[in-house]
Amino acid sequence: MDQSLSSDLLPAAAEAIDDAAPAPRSFLDNLFDRGLLIRTGVDGLYGRSGAFESVVEALDRLVSRIGGADGAEALRFPPGMARSSFERSGYLKGFPHLAGTVHSFCGNEADHARLLACLDAGEDWTAKQAATDIVLTPAACYPLYPVAAARGRLPEGGLLFDLQSYCFRHEPSLEPTRMQLFRMREYVRMGTPEQVLAFRELWLTRGTKMMSDLGLPLAIDPANDPFFGRAGKMLANNQRAQALKFELNVPVNSEDKPTACLSFNYHQDHFGTTWGIAQADGSVAHTACVGFGLERITLALLRHHGLDLDAWPADVRAQLFG
Ligand code: ATP
Ligand code: ZN
Ligand code: MG
Repeated sequence: MDQSLSSDLLPAAAEAIDDAAPAPRSFLDNLFDRGLLIRTGVDGLYGRSGAFESVVEALDRLVSRIGGADGAEALRFPPGMARSSFERSGYLKGFPHLAGTVHSFCGNEADHARLLACLDAGEDWTAKQAATDIVLTPAACYPLYPVAAARGRLPEGGLLFDLQSYCFRHEPSLEPTRMQLFRMREYVRMGTPEQVLAFRELWLTRGTKMMSDLGLPLAIDPANDPFFGRAGKMLANNQRAQALKFELNVPVNSEDKPTACLSFNYHQDHFGTTWGIAQADGSVAHTACVGFGLERITLALLRHHGLDLDAWPADVRAQLFG
């Protein structure tokens, strides 16, 4: 662990007993101070500077270089998906607390007058808003499954896709690594259990090499998705018991609670069954995805190499900005 990180993360004991000392600046404050992230007034919703974006874009290119020879089909969806697809995906069973829907005004002129009156009075003006056909995308791979299913049976070798999307999750937080709108780059594999598990193994190795080549301390750990409620506990336990999800964790906010920067997910036949995706022989397809949190990796680099991109280690800069 680099020295500046560990000392930053220790409680500022000397300052704590000195009432006159200013409160220590958090990592998020420092990012705001440098203009790398820009406040909007909402926790987890930030603007990004050109410098921050240059790292996000460089990471996106780096992932493409690493996966480039695999022949993935690139698809890009906007950060919203069809509500009908979202409903069928099962997301609301597991994660009702994270979902975000798009609502629009659907009233008449009298409703419009009431809306403006509410706004003036500082009252709730959203009552005349109704759900549209669009839901915010919760993970880059969600819009893909219905599209793949509509193409019919998979070819013998299965399919491989390359995705990137802004994603929304309603999880406001003061940790800069937990945003409400962030970008996820993904590769998604569909095929036999052997094909998709081999894909996940390959990316566990590649992802580990990529992050350690970038000078980041990391650990691969078993993980579970943040399922809602008591039933969710069982789903989470089951996911861990079957080793369906791994995360590549890097200490960013703290040493105790490192941050998942990449995740490696084996969905078994969940999406294949949900969407009717069939293998070449007609049996249900299995799927797996690897997800890269582009802002999280950027923040990990800023945390470990400093807030001045020009001062990053030359080999790290070479890999990113070549
Ligand atoms: P966490 O365990 O931190 O809640 P997760 O397990 O829900 O994350 P995934 O659903 O696996 O994350 O999402 C894929 C990747 O997207 C993660 O590995 C992470 O890098 C990134 N990611 C997830 N949630 C956020 C967020 N709120 N802000 C920024 N990046 C995120
Ligand atoms: Zn995915
Ligand atoms: Mg997780």
